[in-house]
Amino acid sequence: MSELATLNIMYLPGVGPKKAEVLKQELRMVSYEDLLYHFPYRYVDRSRIYSISEVSADMQHIQLKGQVLSLRTVGEGRSKRMTAAFTDGTGQVELVWFKGLKFVRGSLAAGVTYLVFGKPSVFNGGINIVHPELERFEENKARLQAGLQPQYNTTERMKSSFLSSKALQKLVFSLFQTYKGMIPETLPAYLLQQHRLMYLNEALRTIHFPASTQDLEKARFRLKLEELFYIQLNILRLKNQRSKTIRGHVFTQVGAYLNTFYKNHLTFELTEAQKRVIREMRQDMGSGRQMNRLLQGDVGSGKTLVALMVMLIALDNKFQACLMAPTEILAQQHYATIAAQVAPLGINVALLTGSTRKKQREEIDAALRSGSIQILIGTHALIEDTVVFGHLGLVVIDEQHRFGVEQRARLWRKNQQPPHVLVMTATPIPRTLAMTVYGDLEVSVIDELPPGRKPIQTQHQYHNRRNELNRFLHQEIARGRQVYVVYPLIDESEKMDFKNLSEGYEYMQKAFPDCKVVMVHGRMKPAEKDAAMQVFASGEAQIMVATTVIEVGVNVPNASVMIIESAERFGLSQLHQLRGRVGRGAEQSYCILMTSYKLAEESRKRMEIMVRTNDGFEIAEADMKMRGPGDLEGTQQSGLPFELKIAHLGRDQQILQLGRDIALKVLEQDPLLEQEQNQLLVRQLKKLARAKINWAMIS
Ligand code: ADP
Ligand code: MG
Repeated sequence: MSELATLNIMYLPGVGPKKAEVLKQELRMVSYEDLLYHFPYRYVDRSRIYSISEVSADMQHIQLKGQVLSLRTVGEGRSKRMTAAFTDGTGQVELVWFKGLKFVRGSLAAGVTYLVFGKPSVFNGGINIVHPELERFEENKARLQAGLQPQYNTTERMKSSFLSSKALQKLVFSLFQTYKGMIPETLPAYLLQQHRLMYLNEALRTIHFPASTQDLEKARFRLKLEELFYIQLNILRLKNQRSKTIRGHVFTQVGAYLNTFYKNHLTFELTEAQKRVIREMRQDMGSGRQMNRLLQGDVGSGKTLVALMVMLIALDNKFQACLMAPTEILAQQHYATIAAQVAPLGINVALLTGSTRKKQREEIDAALRSGSIQILIGTHALIEDTVVFGHLGLVVIDEQHRFGVEQRARLWRKNQQPPHVLVMTATPIPRTLAMTVYGDLEVSVIDELPPGRKPIQTQHQYHNRRNELNRFLHQEIARGRQVYVVYPLIDESEKMDFKNLSEGYEYMQKAFPDCKVVMVHGRMKPAEKDAAMQVFASGEAQIMVATTVIEVGVNVPNASVMIIESAERFGLSQLHQLRGRVGRGAEQSYCILMTSYKLAEESRKRMEIMVRTNDGFEIAEADMKMRGPGDLEGTQQSGLPFELKIAHLGRDQQILQLGRDIALKVLEQDPLLEQEQNQLLVRQLKKLARAKINWAMIS
């Protein structure tokens, strides 16, 4: 193992215990290696000097050269600041400091030529630069030839502990000088050669100190490819191992349960897409291999029904099946729907969640072992080790993005011969992300909605149009429809958000005196929450004011209007999920995105995308491009097997594909990675897995 990973950053010259503590807390930086892999987030061209006459406020960071004319301190208290008039002969800008005034004043001298670096903005009609970097020109002349300067992420706390971007650069530099010979290569020589990649040593040096943009691109390519390659290698190797070592239960019977259900109890025809994915799964389950399949389909495309039918196949082959949902509410809802659907068939269905009472739980445990429970529905409680099935043949996981790869693996370990696994998700996942997070699964897609559904009409409205909106709602309610009003409650404990929600509730009660309004939020006890949901689902209440607790899976086909308050505070995927709560019946449905008039550019874009398209995949792609996959809901938890430091799943799709191709080829020639030349790969995979675990423990 690299010694760099074990050397504490504290011992790096220039760091010491105090700064080490700050680095640990602010950046989770602990070792020399962590510093080496703290990559610049961008580079600025410091060889270029602008003249003040060409500066405008829409420019990014710029460099100026000139002199300080005068210093002033203005304002009191929090707005106290110091300003300097700065000129280069072509014009004048104002430099501004709010902090460290004494220090700045002490270090500035009249008549000295300075290099000023910062982001220009407009204030009081003139250009100013807040908290610029300032250096004496004479002492830094040499550096001007260096060209690209790395910029490192820092925080306020780091800056006040003398750990600015520039300070970090110095630390990396000194580390590099001393230890560059000790950075071991992380890719086998034959791969480096085949793909003409930079050596790691060189790539790391280049990414911190690029000599040219071409070199920088080469270094970034090597590091991104490595990252994505290892993710693919990890996933594909798992898949290989599984298919080599695990035999699947063979389901050959299409028996009474499925046939009876299909002929007598299904009130509508399956869509072609539903038929196709069921066929795909039957093939898997009859093949002798273990099924590991991802079922993707937009909200309302009929996945749950497919899952039920596949479970019936398991039952017909004398196996038990279970369905795992991400939340208690959803588990209960699945239980209610499925129990009702299979009651005529005499199938024994049970519900197990965190709030199942002890006595009942014991009964369930016994009935599971004996096999008398045929379908078990529940939450995470299902994967606890105490839950033992007599003869589990199929596991369905709904809304997979909240379960991790590890949790899936636990299910496999439950039985000597692991069950078939079907993972369902309504969050459309861009192809690259699917390849990465679910690269070990086969994929089925339901790309068709049941017939008769009218596409949801989406509108973007400003808060001040409330009266018009209310008239529309009155109309819809008079037609017998129901309405959701959703408030953002990012953190259930936040007072401010909660106030908005309860005010919204009171407002709706006043504005709709003839209607019954219910409120649902995450702070309620499960029983209260269910009661309120029930009142709405039964049609007794016309309006539900809620937080995002209703985001996943709630099914009230008669609800046809979804109002999303402060829609700018939601991400695209979440908006799409919320919208999917309506449009489940035959009626025309509406989604209304309420925002304030003043909107950030990004927020406006999100609203535009929502209004323009109902296509979940398009939205997911856009979401990933705009936000980066790290922020995509759920990916954090379900997660990538390793943290991505440099690659971007949205922007580096080609490199990802290449990484996958290389991994496939490596495994084709050496499926279990036994060859000598691949031992480095094995070691590296182990190291990455360990790093991920450590990371989880710290945070
Ligand atoms: P999903 O789980 O994909 O969001 P569901 O399985 O909950 O979708 O289905 C949504 C609604 O559509 C349910 O009320 C279901 O009964 C109904 N449904 C499912 N398949 C069909 C179909 N082929 N034709 C008509 N309605 C269907
Ligand atoms: Mg569903």
